[in-house]
Amino acid sequence: GNSAVSASSQSRIRVLVRKRPLNGKERARGEADILQVDEQSSELVVHAPRVKVDLTKVTELHTFSFDGVFDVNVSNDEVYEDAVEPLIPAILTGCRATVFAYGQTGSGKTYTMTPIPLRACQSLLSRIPQGVDVWCSYYEIYGGKVFDLLNERNLCPMREDGKKNVKIVGLREAQLQSYDHFCKLIDRGASARSTGSTGANADSSRSHGVLSMCLRASNGSGAAAVASRGKSQSGCLVDERHLRSDEVVGSVAFIDLAGSERGKDTSDNDVQTRMEGAEINRSLLALKECIRALDHKKGHVPFRGSKLTEALRDSFVGNSRTVMIAAVSPGDGSCEHTLNTLRYADRVR
Ligand code: ADP
Ligand code: MG
Repeated sequence: GNSAVSASSQSRIRVLVRKRPLNGKERARGEADILQVDEQSSELVVHAPRVKVDLTKVTELHTFSFDGVFDVNVSNDEVYEDAVEPLIPAILTGCRATVFAYGQTGSGKTYTMTPIPLRACQSLLSRIPQGVDVWCSYYEIYGGKVFDLLNERNLCPMREDGKKNVKIVGLREAQLQSYDHFCKLIDRGASARSTGSTGANADSSRSHGVLSMCLRASNGSGAAAVASRGKSQSGCLVDERHLRSDEVVGSVAFIDLAGSERGKDTSDNDVQTRMEGAEINRSLLALKECIRALDHKKGHVPFRGSKLTEALRDSFVGNSRTVMIAAVSPGDGSCEHTLNTLRYADRVR
């Protein structure tokens, strides 16, 4: 167990850090574990690199404090119980929740974000009131473009509607029939994410994966009822803008962000890599600015700063809750990236 469930679980933004164990490769390289977690005080100490963890000989320390810190022995189930389960009652009563995993490639984002939506789905489906359906979409943002992971990585354009809101056009939404149905959907989607890319440099560390569950009234007069048929009576395609914004009575989005180090690929020789790096950099900065603006209850939230934040706009409006899980590698070889991740997480609030 850990102490992170506390009064702060009610605040709109929670920032949590998860440390993964030192892996075989790091051990083989003789890397030292430079992260010291104190779950009681929710503090994390980063020891200076190249200093073996002999606490009497430390020359330089960085201490960070968060809403919660998960040590290496904390299971995915425990992370779920602490970080996400408290959001479920809020989601069922109209809240828009977003859960992000941030961190360098290899730090444990996907390890954390793969089982968590499954638990959330189980919990939602077991408590869903009569007359409400759960709709699921799953896409990735790669090089600033949206690809539908539930529909053969279809490229879905982002367009502005009359109210200057950017919408993802043509994104498939599946009405969840059961927990098993959800498992199959995201299983297929996840493999499309890692293997479906065609570009030579395409890999999941350069894309943001966005898995959403949206609660809608089942027999609402308009969009939801139409959407279940996929087409309107006249055979015309349903107006996707309505599908994505109307009748939502709660939602949750799970976001497995691109590797934070990829935002630094801005001086690479390869033009595509450079452009992707610039977009990742832009999106991670814009995300931080949006979360900060929400936390400080500023009127203006700068969604327009990146494709990612434009796509997530609906998750941030109204009564929203955000959980950021910063994943960190313990080895001294990752010290710089780890410090960058912790500084980012520190500044989100
Ligand atoms: P990322 O998605 O951030 O690139 P992954 O989630 O793929 O990183 O994790 C990299 C490797 O580390 C994987 O083999 C994963 O199983 C392992 N790993 C990550 N976090 C943990 C953890 N908390 N406990 C045990 N193994 C972990
Ligand atoms: Mg990953």
